[in-house]
Amino acid sequence: MKVVTPEEAEKASFVVCVRKGEPYPFADNLEGTCAWCGAEVIFRPHAPKKPPRICSPCFLHWLEANPQ
Ligand SMILES: [Zn+2]
Repeated sequence: MKVVTPEEAEKASFVVCVRKGEPYPFADNLEGTCAWCGAEVIFRPHAPKKPPRICSPCFLHWLEANPQ
């Protein structure tokens, strides 16, 4: 997993979030929806705001379609 600074993260193509209901060790998560499939996702309050949020299954599909 690549670690980026907040400035870089704001320019990221998207932010990967876990789907609601998956284990996540924080109590102050925010909730939203996946920009690609509409699934409910949770994310950290300091997650970048500009890039679209996508769920981890969508990210895995994208990785399969875009081999690094
Ligand atoms: Zn999704």
